[in-house]
Amino acid sequence: MSERQLATVRRIAAVDPIPGADAIEVATVTGWKVVIKKGEFVPGDLAVYCEIDSFLPICPEYEFLRKSSLRRMGGLEGFRLKTIRLRGQVSQGLLIPAPQDASEGDDVTEQLGIIKYEPPIPASLAGRARGPWPPVPKTDEERIQNLPEMLASEHSFYVTEKLDGSSATYVLNRENFFVCSRNLNLVEDAENTFWRIARELNLEEKMRAHGGNFAVQGELIGPGVQGNRYKLAKNEVRLYSAFNVDTHEYLPWETLTSLAKELGMETVPLIRQGATVKNFGTIEEFLADADGPSAIGGAPREGLVWRAENTGAKIGFKAISNAFLLATDS
Ligand code: ATP
Ligand code: MN
Repeated sequence: MSERQLATVRRIAAVDPIPGADAIEVATVTGWKVVIKKGEFVPGDLAVYCEIDSFLPICPEYEFLRKSSLRRMGGLEGFRLKTIRLRGQVSQGLLIPAPQDASEGDDVTEQLGIIKYEPPIPASLAGRARGPWPPVPKTDEERIQNLPEMLASEHSFYVTEKLDGSSATYVLNRENFFVCSRNLNLVEDAENTFWRIARELNLEEKMRAHGGNFAVQGELIGPGVQGNRYKLAKNEVRLYSAFNVDTHEYLPWETLTSLAKELGMETVPLIRQGATVKNFGTIEEFLADADGPSAIGGAPREGLVWRAENTGAKIGFKAISNAFLLATDS
């Protein structure tokens, strides 16, 4: 399922000292900062970069990670990479020497036996597959650290708070109503939170009344989801996308907000509109901007999602707050 290229061959862009540290340095690869042993790499070197959330197999070359990173995922043991801070320097992921025959851009995730670390899913969110995925793109956002070319974008963007819950997709297409989690078209079940919410809201009827052949996508939050970070009494789905199944276009933010009202739902918190990426700053500045309190409950927010306005396409990225990553087990 993991489409994410967790381990790729990249060129080291820079190596800089860390104030007060003499055994370690910080390397820059694309938009990521990774702490390395002093002298381990120099700018221009090719290396394999393993992103955070990588789950590395147990093998001798990763044994140094045992103390900090040993984890169990289902029946499997491995080493899980997460965001850490060393001598004040944020470090995300791992750099290892590139194989002899490697070239820049190679995806070596499978070759190295790396998979994505996924925390266990509670039964109320898991569900069973009813059939194939409906004709709607799955929800996903790429990290700004992997999209340096985005910084040149001429689009106007709107920015929403990224909520840390569970992805929900509701679709009405040619008379068929679908309720989906991140990856599954779900069998109806009163114990399943995605379905329970749909029935409580009379979502199927409301979507039919609207005329159909569209989808709304949002984040399920509240009790039983990610430790109820937002301290809600009830589960809710906060919408971030509306998609026209016939034209294959995402609808503008304004259409989403009016659609949300019609469906009796709310959107994710809107942070700003009409924003430009071009003169906003460096990747570090995007990441610093992502830090802050959540508009729902005030706990540290997970981050922000930037999306180009009125293009019909899903052009954008996520900026995940390092403060959030360091403060939580994410
Ligand atoms: P990763 O890509 O890091 O492996 P992932 O694919 O599981 O992780 P997330 O990091 O959670 O996903 O980022 C994408 C998800 O963010 C979407 O699937 C969506 O459910 C969720 N999300 C929460 N808030 C928003 C928002 N405001 N806009 C867009 N997506 C959002
Ligand atoms: Mn993803």
